[in-house]
Amino acid sequence: MDGIPSAVERLIAAAFGGVVGSFLNVCIYRLPRHASIVWPASACPQCGRSLSWYENIPILSFLALRGRCRTCANMISWQYPIVEALTAVMFAAAWWYYGPGVLLASRLVFGCALIVLFAIDLEHHLLPNVITVPGIVVGFAFSFFTEPGWQASLVGIIVGGGVLFLIAEAYYRVRREEGLGMGDVKMLAMIGAFLGWKQTLVALMLASVGGSVIGLLLIATRRGDMKYALPFGTFLALGAAGAAAIGPALIDWYVVRW
Ligand SMILES: [Zn+2]
Repeated sequence: MDGIPSAVERLIAAAFGGVVGSFLNVCIYRLPRHASIVWPASACPQCGRSLSWYENIPILSFLALRGRCRTCANMISWQYPIVEALTAVMFAAAWWYYGPGVLLASRLVFGCALIVLFAIDLEHHLLPNVITVPGIVVGFAFSFFTEPGWQASLVGIIVGGGVLFLIAEAYYRVRREEGLGMGDVKMLAMIGAFLGWKQTLVALMLASVGGSVIGLLLIATRRGDMKYALPFGTFLALGAAGAAAIGPALIDWYVVRW
């Protein structure tokens, strides 16, 4: 860009990402508890004291307070600085990779949704409709202006949601218990809306491989058995991030190779 060194641009993008990450933390904490995400201001979950502005600065406050509440010395979860740092890195990397434009906006909205779903599913085994359902609509709306185009997006929604719905139904009929929830179905439909059907299949493949490897490791180390339900949405989030990053190259390679 004119005049501003690109390193400064990325730093500004990272700082903005840190602030957004701070808001994502609020969503991760409050959505599963059905609390408002806009009111009241952030408070210590232990003693309930409201946080002042200087206790709310992404990452820096956590470091300055050494991870403890000033009043009750309650340990602040590592989730807060991790989510803030992850979001900051994502904003800087996306700015560098995509440059300003509709695709950048689409990818950032998508990435934020994935971070929230990843964290909530990991902790609560839950994928809130307030993220996935609007996510499908927003992803489809973006597709009229940028990748993957509305046709690929529409097919992505149908294939993404449809494939997992059929797997969930089949599993239920065979095992008589729920293996995949409707949350997973809606989440993959959302991934389809943002990435289109090809990369959605890549995301599903990556998530399945990742889930199987971790599942086998858990069985091998006797930390869990087959009944231990791994939150599939967590793996879907990782798979979707991987697909967005390497999916186009992977599809190109596959088409050329075969
Ligand atoms: Zn406290």
